[in-house]
Amino acid sequence: MTIVVAGGGTAGWMTAAALARFLGRNVRIHLVESEEIGTIGVGEATIPQIRTFNQALGIDETAFVRATEATFKLAIEFVGWSRPGERYMHAFGDIGRESGLLPFHHSWLRGRREGVARELAHYSLNNMAALGERMQTGAARTSALLPEMPYAFHFDAALYAAFLRRFAEEQGVVRTEGRIAGVERDQTSGDVAALALADGRRIAGDLFIDCTGFSGLLIENALGAGYDDWSHWLPCDRAVAVPSARVEAFTPYTRATAHGAGWQWRIPLQHRTGNGIVYASAHLSDDAASALLLANLDSAPLADPRPMRFTTGKRREMWKHNVIAVGLAAGFMEPLESTSIHLIQTAISRILKLLPGREATQAQRNQFNRESDIEYERIRDFLILHYRANRRDEPFWRARQEAAIPASLAAKIALWAGNGHIVREQDELFTEVAWLQVFVGQGVMPAGNHPIADFPSRDGLAEYLGLIDKLIAREVAQMPDHDAFVAALCPAR
Ligand code: FAD
Repeated sequence: MTIVVAGGGTAGWMTAAALARFLGRNVRIHLVESEEIGTIGVGEATIPQIRTFNQALGIDETAFVRATEATFKLAIEFVGWSRPGERYMHAFGDIGRESGLLPFHHSWLRGRREGVARELAHYSLNNMAALGERMQTGAARTSALLPEMPYAFHFDAALYAAFLRRFAEEQGVVRTEGRIAGVERDQTSGDVAALALADGRRIAGDLFIDCTGFSGLLIENALGAGYDDWSHWLPCDRAVAVPSARVEAFTPYTRATAHGAGWQWRIPLQHRTGNGIVYASAHLSDDAASALLLANLDSAPLADPRPMRFTTGKRREMWKHNVIAVGLAAGFMEPLESTSIHLIQTAISRILKLLPGREATQAQRNQFNRESDIEYERIRDFLILHYRANRRDEPFWRARQEAAIPASLAAKIALWAGNGHIVREQDELFTEVAWLQVFVGQGVMPAGNHPIADFPSRDGLAEYLGLIDKLIAREVAQMPDHDAFVAALCPAR
């Protein structure tokens, strides 16, 4: 069997590396990419699941941190999302300690009402470490009572693709440099039979993975899979990115700062800082977006601002005939919660789980497409919540407060608004504590809490909350600074 991966950005190389690692040399894997076309060149903030991917490939974490100029990420800081001047973090990991069946946040909600609880951040190890710009890995923890401190990375996307390319080629992936000029289809089945390169070469295969980015050369141009456009829910449609000089103390969190018609990201790496603005072209011109970005950098720009256009949404069928779309070819949602690389990872797991032989069944395709749809829709709802629950005054933000939202999100908000219930469904990516932090951070508070949280005495509750707060503060105080932690891993810098 021969699998052809079309495209060599983050999606193409992650896919080729993982398929080669798990399928071994029984399957031939070809990757075609064009240096002339290049890659999108952004996509530098991740979520903790990236570690599972790297570990599955057997990648040494320190080697990875050195090779990709990575820093550690414990959280995302949202600045001005609720209203100008306010900030909060969505930190990875648990908050507080569950008692019995009761999720911690119900005790916290009661504690807030009775004046015995501090801000939610004080009960999250990741949040407090991020605020203190501290970092350490699990092994050095002092208190067994505290949860694990999950972490992700900020990394240089081009260096990560190069790192994976070396890995994949060592595992037997054959790379072809060239521009795909056409797609040849089997007359009877309609399946893709081969890619036709501009120089006349032909790359034939049994299964094709479309990683050609926004253009979706195979899945859309050749097979017309269709696209669900979600811009009425998430109207930002452009971005402009610029790298700037390295900052001295690099924060162990991504920053997302709201502005008049969208938001700006800041991603600190060891050798430079990644910056960009995501905005709605109906509310902000391209020139104004570039000027806004350049006026709001923490360090000197290293290049000219680079514009990008996108339509938020997803392919109607991510697997059609013998083509599976992965990465930007499958769909795109703005990088507010750093989910795109994760979606590449889950698509790869799904390919491995449902891997066809020479012939795929429609049942396999349906299952793949159904799982992908659910995953995208749940993430979409989470992103919309950030916009919906704002109390800003600009026309862009006011329109977000009033716009219709998906029924699935409306149901989630209603459940929270009563007694603070958050229910995670169908393996959705974001956990109860992720939703909790965004609800609370955006200022959406419920009327009550679970009745079980009312059982302990007020003093007992105060003692319980105080203990967690103290344990976390003590734990964070003994952690090294994030930059010292990175410097110890990368002594050559
Ligand atoms: P690309 O990088 O575009 O790669 C496409 C590949 O296909 C290239 O190798 C190209 O040469 C090849 N190709 C295309 N056409 C042809 C052809 N005709 N012939 C031969 N080869 C061809 N994700 C995150 O997880 N975190 C983030 O912080 C984040 N930030 C983002 C910010 C912005 C503004 C955008 C737009 C995206 C962001 N993403 C982020 C998403 C992330 O960049 C992508 O998911 C990731 O880079 C994967 O891209 P890709 O490989 O699918 O596409």
